[in-house]
Amino acid sequence: MRHEALVRVAVDRPLDQLFDYACPSEPLPEPGQRVRVTFGRSEQTGVVMAAGKPPAVDRARIRPLEAVVDPEPILPGPLLELLRFASRYYHHPIGETVLNALPPALRKGAPLPSPAPAEPRWRLRPETTPPRLGARQRAIVRGLETSGTALAVGALADLTGLALRRDELHRLADLGLVEAVANEPLTPPSASSAVTLTPDQRQAVTAIAAELGRPSAFLLDGVTGSGKTEVYLEAAAAAIARGLQVLVLVPEIALTPQLVRRVSQRFPGQVAALHSGLPAGERLRVWDAARRGDRTLLLGTRSAVFTPLPALGLLIVDEEHDPAYKQQDGLRYHARDLAILRGHIESLPVVLGSATPTLESIAKTRDGHYRHLPLGTRPDGSLPPPVRCVDTRVHRPDEGLTTPLLDAMRATLEQGRQCFVLLNRRGFARVLGCEHCGWVADCPRCDAHLTVHAAASRSICHLCGFSQALAAHCPECGQALSQQGLGTQRVERALSRHFAGVPLVRLDRDSIRRRGELERCLETIRQMDAGIVVGTQMLAKGHDFPRVGLVGVIDVDQGLFSVDLRAAEQTLQLVLQAAGRAGRSGDPGVVLVQTGHPGHPLMQALQRGDYASMVAPLLDERRAAAMPPFGFLALIRVDGPTAGASARQAEAIARQLRQHARGVRVLGPAPAPRHRVNRRYREQILLVSPTRNALHHTLVVARDAWQQHPPPRNLRISIDVDPVTLA
Ligand code: ADP
Ligand code: ZN
Ligand code: ZN
Repeated sequence: MRHEALVRVAVDRPLDQLFDYACPSEPLPEPGQRVRVTFGRSEQTGVVMAAGKPPAVDRARIRPLEAVVDPEPILPGPLLELLRFASRYYHHPIGETVLNALPPALRKGAPLPSPAPAEPRWRLRPETTPPRLGARQRAIVRGLETSGTALAVGALADLTGLALRRDELHRLADLGLVEAVANEPLTPPSASSAVTLTPDQRQAVTAIAAELGRPSAFLLDGVTGSGKTEVYLEAAAAAIARGLQVLVLVPEIALTPQLVRRVSQRFPGQVAALHSGLPAGERLRVWDAARRGDRTLLLGTRSAVFTPLPALGLLIVDEEHDPAYKQQDGLRYHARDLAILRGHIESLPVVLGSATPTLESIAKTRDGHYRHLPLGTRPDGSLPPPVRCVDTRVHRPDEGLTTPLLDAMRATLEQGRQCFVLLNRRGFARVLGCEHCGWVADCPRCDAHLTVHAAASRSICHLCGFSQALAAHCPECGQALSQQGLGTQRVERALSRHFAGVPLVRLDRDSIRRRGELERCLETIRQMDAGIVVGTQMLAKGHDFPRVGLVGVIDVDQGLFSVDLRAAEQTLQLVLQAAGRAGRSGDPGVVLVQTGHPGHPLMQALQRGDYASMVAPLLDERRAAAMPPFGFLALIRVDGPTAGASARQAEAIARQLRQHARGVRVLGPAPAPRHRVNRRYREQILLVSPTRNALHHTLVVARDAWQQHPPPRNLRISIDVDPVTLA
């Protein structure tokens, strides 16, 4: 019998192991290469994790590889190491973890795309006198002027923020203004920024640049508008000047078109954006270009932390406090934490930036794990607006709006400035109810009220998507139903009554369903003078609107009394992020927060101003309770078809955990805050540990136990390490 070489392969199955296959022919595929294997009765795409190791099982049972898919490894060694770690740390099957890191098409075994044929790049023809041009044409010409280099249509689109078509460039070429160039190398971008850095910014950039090539972590901490983005750009320029690639993570690309634009303007033709909103083919091409080292700066959301980048030299995590960095199903990773780890593995600096850093990151600057880079005042000298409370016990809100808020809005509009009105979350929406008997329309599958969507005349469940036509009469008592509670649409309608004739824009998930609507919406806001914008926390994200004079926050009280660990911290972050929208030019403006509890310590802290002193008492509380960042959590969720089945399974797991809990507190099981979702019942167990190791060991032992006695197939068990929410 021939002694064939063996490879260990990760396959996309919920199993905690790798599988050995024999490799009948040379050369042996290397770690990171995809292969086709027979698994059970089907064929699967897998990724080679190791080659030439002795088999874990009886040799006779080892099957041969069916085929090698990639001509070379597509996941480099350091990335495989990151994925191995993620699988262990988050207690998620290795195969699913590894395959999950690939773009969907590659997971299914599609071949790598052939590199796209070189797109024509366009440049200005110097000696022409411009004819009369339309606004878009002028923008294209300006874009090419500022970039100073030839650009493909896509890069020009990112840079101008316009959805450009090729024929627009052909038209300009016909006019003699631009010309296509074939394969001229990109001229490197101008190394200098348009602004002179402040001393704080300069210090930050110098500190980061000095660490290029070394594993280190920074927290760039400065209010909105203090110039963090400018620091990212300068630090990126330093990395790029050394021939390195830069990865910039953002919570949501759709919400940050201005960042895409700024980065593209600074590094014309060298930027690519990677996110799940891209069509599959495009996403694959961007990923592969980054993998081949074709793009210098990659801007991406959470999952982009797994992109192979052969020359990665700097990793930036913008708005590090944003919970969108935590994946909420499957591999429940935190992209910020994996970014830090990737920095260690690949020996490069990682910069976390925020105006409102998480308690975790603040604690890590105190214990020396991260270097603190504070940015003091805004470069333009403006101050963030003061926060004031409106006591809703004194000033009763009507349709969510109090008289002091309405008065302040009127005054702001008279000054020709904009008012932002923020609703805490979309879930704070209208429900359909009976004022007579108290009946409320509930989702038949979940513990949740249905939300009224007036435009569609339907009630919709935000948890499971259940939808039905709006009912007119109460099923209990037959009285006419009415819409209760608050939603952005209802506040919008109330505002349009109070401020007839004033431009009014709504910004929430429902108003930007279609492609391009968000861009249009943001553009409208930028263009209008006095006007009102009403929306959800999307409003609080990193948009740069110059004319906001007032931010009104309709209701924060649920955040003050929620049982959720991070509710208080996230309420502070939300209000301050929203506040950051105001006073970007000159006059600081004001933030009005409507609350029934103006004496609550958090509300008091908000009115005092600076974030560091606001979080100090929260940190003390967490320390006293041995909660993160001073303790370590894992949440085990059990989800089953009946309440009894879920509860019994959760009880059994909790018993096992308690037997092995070395110093780890096992809380529960208890029904999840939303017990029933989509006709399934959820129980949860919370583990609180003084150390990471103890937590990890307890989870390992428990997992071994339930692998030996697997729960019934219709029960699902998941582990959430470092949960961001306990709901
Ligand atoms: P942040 O990312 O912290 O919100 P930005 O980097 O976007 O801050 O800066 C806010 C505004 O100030 C931007 O318009 C930016 O161009 C400008 N800016 C930043 N740094 C400087 C500087 N050193 N001098 C002048 N303007 C600056
Ligand atoms: Zn009724
Ligand atoms: Zn539902």
